[in-house]
Amino acid sequence: MSDPSISRPRRWDKPFSLEVGSEDEMTDDIVDSLLQSPPFSQIDPEGFKKSLPLREIMKNDSRIIGFDDGDIIIRRGDWGNSAFFVLSGTVRVDLERKQTSLPDEILGRRVSKVKTFFESIAQLWKNNKHPEVREIASTGNKPTFNTRISHGKTRIYLQEVSAVLDKYRTAKLEAGHWFGELAALGRTSRVTTVFSEGVSQLLEIRWQGIRDILRYDRNRSLKQYIEDVFRERALAAFLRTDPLFHDCEPELLQRIVDQVEFHTYGNYDSHKPFKELIKDGDNNTDAGEPVIIEEGDYPNGIVMIRSGLARISKRHYNGRRTVGYLSPGQIFGLDEIQAELESLTPVACRTQLSAIGHLNAVLVPTPLVEEILQAKQSPEIIPSNKKTNTCRPTGSHTVKLHDDLLLSQLVDHHYVQGTSLMVINLDRCTRCDDCVRACATAHDNNPRFVRHGPILNQYMIPNACLHCVDPICMIECPTAAIQRDLDHGDIVINEQTCIGCAQCASNCPFDAIRMVDIRDSKGEIIVDSKSHVPLTQATKCDLCIDQKSGPACERACPHDALFRVDMHDASKVEEVFSP
Ligand code: SF4
Ligand code: SF4
Ligand code: SF4
Repeated sequence: MSDPSISRPRRWDKPFSLEVGSEDEMTDDIVDSLLQSPPFSQIDPEGFKKSLPLREIMKNDSRIIGFDDGDIIIRRGDWGNSAFFVLSGTVRVDLERKQTSLPDEILGRRVSKVKTFFESIAQLWKNNKHPEVREIASTGNKPTFNTRISHGKTRIYLQEVSAVLDKYRTAKLEAGHWFGELAALGRTSRVTTVFSEGVSQLLEIRWQGIRDILRYDRNRSLKQYIEDVFRERALAAFLRTDPLFHDCEPELLQRIVDQVEFHTYGNYDSHKPFKELIKDGDNNTDAGEPVIIEEGDYPNGIVMIRSGLARISKRHYNGRRTVGYLSPGQIFGLDEIQAELESLTPVACRTQLSAIGHLNAVLVPTPLVEEILQAKQSPEIIPSNKKTNTCRPTGSHTVKLHDDLLLSQLVDHHYVQGTSLMVINLDRCTRCDDCVRACATAHDNNPRFVRHGPILNQYMIPNACLHCVDPICMIECPTAAIQRDLDHGDIVINEQTCIGCAQCASNCPFDAIRMVDIRDSKGEIIVDSKSHVPLTQATKCDLCIDQKSGPACERACPHDALFRVDMHDASKVEEVFSP
């Protein structure tokens, strides 16, 4: 009888340098020479665990890649889970704001044109009778951006990079500089586009490698560098997004920036086990969530979420009950500090904060928060001897549903990721399928969602893209074809650059992406000219980005049963999920 067991996959079964898109294997000689030069020679190898030595991290979690003149290395708005170190050559960083930067079309971004009213109506009879007909395939229309095979990989590039970029505000980075580390560690989108100027050679380190170097390097040189960069370039602007810090005096804000602590919780790849849990029908995912602040603890500051999501829960008999959730930019612990100022006695947290998946947060120490509150001077909250002000209503608005179990299920299923979650109220839905037909009319005669999915109480959550806060579908797309639309924030796919590898479909935990065969205008399935295998492309809900009147599914429902909900809009969530 054959043995069906296999050994558990391990982290370094496939070194980074052997993954698709890599050039040469990381040999011991290359690793030696890297470890002998700064900044890697400044890392203390003694602090690393025996099972995770620095040498093996460099060998397995990094790779050397080359770029030719004009190649785009990273692109603003894309997701990235690696950082780059310039080994040789020069790269140019676009410093312009989105509005004044290089046009989207030459960077290979999808450019959506909103249809006029008449074009929207004309879809009803002008659509090709075959599904998934692609214009580029039938008309030979040339894309406006340039692609070429560079170092064995299809890349988008800019012709005459120096001449073009001289018209824009850019910075040059030469050997010895890092870039991309903030997006990789914070799991946020790239904030800029970086081109190779001339031939350059870069060391790319995947996220896990950087994380372990930060964790075990006793000299803290890289950690210090990354924290300094974030403090210097982005922290003040991030803090100012919250009303608490908005009007802060520059001197106080600078002291806060200097003293803020950075914290990371949870596993970067936690969406993978979560996907398995969904498949097994096991919703009890809160068990593995790292606790940030325990119920009953005295907060030593306020926690402000940088990226990821957090669950707020309360003790309930022998378990816990979810009472809310926080998304990027929201804060926890302010109520307790305000109450402490009011009563002049320490106030413990009445709820617990834990990380759902991977989370980055900053902690602003209590004395500084008290200083802001006192600076705001208001008669309401502080007794006569020590007047301060609430700079927001006490109890920041988290979602409150009549049914705690429903709230808990929405969090357990990670639906709180959604900036546009599709919800169908089954008490009103007559199964007429008008929503599905409307979606098909707006999208190549093929609907972009399936009216089927988990049912929570009377609500069905169909398999439609949620347009996640943290779109993990984007992480491993080799051509960055799946991307966040920079104007609307929706997650869309560029048909001109999707190579049909299905990486996004396999990463999406909500099964919201479907791979389809594509056709020419005569309805013939298009095949690869060499292998003769049918070409496929990824499709998903694009929130009807090119339709003037917004999501066709929501508009078409004659019974007001289908809604698109931004799960971070507390009043909308409460409205849709009220009985
Ligand atoms: S495709 Fe999946 S992971 Fe990506 S945004 Fe949509 S629901 Fe989220
Ligand atoms: S199938 Fe998905 S991951 Fe692959 S190229 Fe297309 S959009 Fe990117
Ligand atoms: S928003 Fe548009 S693309 Fe998305 S499911 Fe609705 S009709 Fe389809």
